[in-house]
Amino acid sequence: PRTPLTLLGTGAMGTALARAWLAAGHPVTVWNRTAARAEALAAEGAAVAATAAEAVAANRLVVACLLDDASLGEALEDAGLSGRDLVNLTTGTPAEGRTRAAWAEARGARFVDAGIMAVPPMIGQPGSGAYVFYSGSSELFEEHRDTLAVPADTRFVGTDPGFAALHDVALLSGMYGMFAGISHAFALVRGEDIPLNEFAPLLEGWLHAMAASVPQTAERLSTGDYTTGVVSNLAMQVQAGQRTLLRTADEQGVSRELLEPVMRLMRRRLDDGHGDEDTTGLVDLLTARPATT
Ligand code: NDP
Repeated sequence: PRTPLTLLGTGAMGTALARAWLAAGHPVTVWNRTAARAEALAAEGAAVAATAAEAVAANRLVVACLLDDASLGEALEDAGLSGRDLVNLTTGTPAEGRTRAAWAEARGARFVDAGIMAVPPMIGQPGSGAYVFYSGSSELFEEHRDTLAVPADTRFVGTDPGFAALHDVALLSGMYGMFAGISHAFALVRGEDIPLNEFAPLLEGWLHAMAASVPQTAERLSTGDYTTGVVSNLAMQVQAGQRTLLRTADEQGVSRELLEPVMRLMRRRLDDGHGDEDTTGLVDLLTARPATT
């Protein structure tokens, strides 16, 4: 028999999660603040609880997928959490994860925080690449690992309940840097006689090739030596960046506002005497901590 579970929040993501568990044969009790939004799931076999407290009382395993940490606190205000295993799939910050873990433990529950690396259509689709970061109680995670793996693959990243959110946000932050670059690149070429559908695979291929440098950055950060095997050093990159990249933006009538912050950091690192390194030293500037600690 499949583990029965409670799901709090049947928004876009919660509904996709509920469907995946129902399809795999798990008895699911759902609750949503706006009851109408849970009705479709009732027709698909879910039990609908009238209150969050009632939903929490129904099963030991309680999964929450609400808007934010504050909505989780509101929803669970009157719920009896003693003896419950609370899995928080609501996106939050590392500090929110840690505070929420202490809060749940003080109420007698085991707790894991989570960060979903997927959009709803990827949920319950093996091979979609969807996965979820988990951190917090390893006992909870081990016990429910198979159930948690139904909607998406699982990655447990540590007993610190803040680590799931930290991994989630670190990946998303990297993504926004990439989106910034993509926006700037298209801004440069749009309006010229360049077919965008032919330009797109060139940009995609280049970003893929450059992403291969990520493990090298990790290696450099752990050795503290940012100079080994540097192909294009900072001195060269700053020169190219300042002279060519920013000037091309000006020539094309494109705002410098996305490019300039990273160029400014690179110049600062160069001015600090690190012209023989690659861009790894930007990490030091951002954290203002020496590389070796
Ligand atoms: P939706 O906006 O579709 O759903 C939000 C849910 O939160 C609804 O169930 C809503 O209830 C509930 N809610 C909001 N405020 C409160 C409150 N004060 N008290 C109780 N319930 C509340 O969002 P998603 O389902 O897309 O997202 C849910 C979580 O999943 C978020 O943390 C999001 O960051 C995360 N996530 C979403 C992804 C996505 O692509 N959609 C991707 C990765 C993570 P009501 O219906 O009553 O408004």
